[in-house]
Amino acid sequence: MLHSNMRILVNVGVVTINLPDIALSSGRDLKKFWEIFNERCELCHKAHKVRIGRLENTTSDVAPILWQYGAYARLQKGESIAPLIHGGYATASLGYAGIYECVKYMTGHSHTEPEGYELAIEIMQRLNDYCNKWKEEEDIDYSLYGTPLESTTYKFAKCLKERFGTIDGESTKNYITNSYHVHVTEPIGAFEKLALEADFQKLSPGGVISYVECANLQDNIPAVLALIKFIYDNTMYAELNTKSDYCQVCGYDGEILLDEENQWYCPNCGNKDQHKMNVARRTCGYIGNHFWNFGRTEEISERYVHLGGN
Ligand SMILES: [Zn+2]
Repeated sequence: MLHSNMRILVNVGVVTINLPDIALSSGRDLKKFWEIFNERCELCHKAHKVRIGRLENTTSDVAPILWQYGAYARLQKGESIAPLIHGGYATASLGYAGIYECVKYMTGHSHTEPEGYELAIEIMQRLNDYCNKWKEEEDIDYSLYGTPLESTTYKFAKCLKERFGTIDGESTKNYITNSYHVHVTEPIGAFEKLALEADFQKLSPGGVISYVECANLQDNIPAVLALIKFIYDNTMYAELNTKSDYCQVCGYDGEILLDEENQWYCPNCGNKDQHKMNVARRTCGYIGNHFWNFGRTEEISERYVHLGGN
């Protein structure tokens, strides 16, 4: 039986839909787009069902600390975990990636513009509709989730290139944009970005995070406070991205930079040895400092500074 009053949710996992792939597969035909969209959603659902089917045949013995000693539940030895997959105890995440690239290809506009925004919101709404339908049918908490896409950004971009070649602006990059985020290169102010993304956060109940890329704001604390207040008043979850680097060769503690080949280097002494520098950047949700794959590094190098930049 469950520990009294405990509502720690178990997440059975995430399956992520590559939205730019649907757009490119449709050849800008909106009717075809929705047909493929429906197929892909059902494919994600099928993947979830395979995983859930396996979990339903799993006993508490696979992870006693989780299932027998209270972390998730206090089941008996050999008892099935199946009842905990249903009834609101477990969530199943439908992830999505590349709203920007998807609507840009379909409409010619970013979702920061009305034409793109309208389609972007409709996509989000339909994804939620699927989650709600499956939830009702199976009594499992399916919910729409802004996949962190940490290294998958590169994997998805590579798949797009393989399938569609190079299509102006959509699959020429080595990364695709996370969830509903405004494209990292798009010039937009911090407050405007957060206000727009707040609309999408409401439609992404399984998980979200928005970012504002900041210059060094040590001498502008009022701006930091104003931004935090705006986040508190308008969004569910957002963070400020700052830089915190260190060159172990010369002691430089400003921003370590990327050169034209996207190699990290110290602008003070020219050190390029990744073992002798510390670089910390938001990777998506987490702040990483173990360096990144080619696509994610390209994305980091292209980030527009929303607050305090030039
Ligand atoms: Zn240095």
